[in-house]
Amino acid sequence: MEDVLLQVQNLTFAYRESAVLKDINVTIHRGEKIAVMGANGAGKSTFFLHLNGVLHQDEGTICLAGRQIQKKTETKLRQKVGYVFQDADSQLIASNVRAEISFGPMNLGLSQKEVKKRVEEALNYMDLEDLAERPPHYLSGGEKKRVSIADILAMEPEILLFDEPMAALDPFNASRVEQILWNLHEEGKTLLIATHDVDFAYRFADRIIVFAEGSILADGDPFDLFHNTDMMEQAHLKAPAMMTVWEALRTANLVTQSLPYPTTLSQVVEAVKAMEAMEERGL
Ligand code: ADP
Repeated sequence: MEDVLLQVQNLTFAYRESAVLKDINVTIHRGEKIAVMGANGAGKSTFFLHLNGVLHQDEGTICLAGRQIQKKTETKLRQKVGYVFQDADSQLIASNVRAEISFGPMNLGLSQKEVKKRVEEALNYMDLEDLAERPPHYLSGGEKKRVSIADILAMEPEILLFDEPMAALDPFNASRVEQILWNLHEEGKTLLIATHDVDFAYRFADRIIVFAEGSILADGDPFDLFHNTDMMEQAHLKAPAMMTVWEALRTANLVTQSLPYPTTLSQVVEAVKAMEAMEERGL
């Protein structure tokens, strides 16, 4: 992949005396969907806060589309990189949903007409039209999450950072948010998603970055990474259920070794059906 969007080199940062991020090197390409994993306190949020220009590194560089970001150009990062916080309440401040979503584009200094257009688009995209006049603080958890995503979408960032987007949502709202993530990917957005959910990471991400104690422990293909037992142990990660199921089927010779690993239940069912059909035809 040639289209480098963000390049982080030798980034080091400490809130106080001891480093929280240590010599981080990451290259992010346009259109990637990356799961960022690692134990609590590993440095994922601090890393995200650097990517969207809220924190400034003590050492190292961040380049956006080939341009090195300086302290005075950090607003560029804030425009291009949107951060959806884990806790929607800490992000929502306005007295109604429409006003809430308009804050971001207004702060970008856009014309009233453009602000209005973006707000209506974000309301529509997140299916929030009926809630537009409601105070965000009295919405349900799922609705608040949708407002907090609309907030960021109205800024039209190229890169979206999500901190545990499905945490604390019921299964219906969690799959709704996951579908939004798939849609954003389809539309060409670059996504980095901090998550503890190995099953989601396995079916969604095309790359996983694992943080441990402020360093990058692993960075690569989900399949390879989830087979790296030493690293998994060190990062306190467990294998995704779909992978475990498939390996059990392989061990029991119920599926051929040559079939690719499925990442969803429907793919497992399809593969098993295909095996049955082959057996019936005596192949
Ligand atoms: P994660 O997102 O992986 O849970 P964080 O980036 O939130 O990790 O935290 C990394 C480390 O930085 C932790 O030790 C945490 O206590 C510390 N930390 C996070 N935010 C602050 C802050 N505002 N001031 C001081 N220390 C912080």
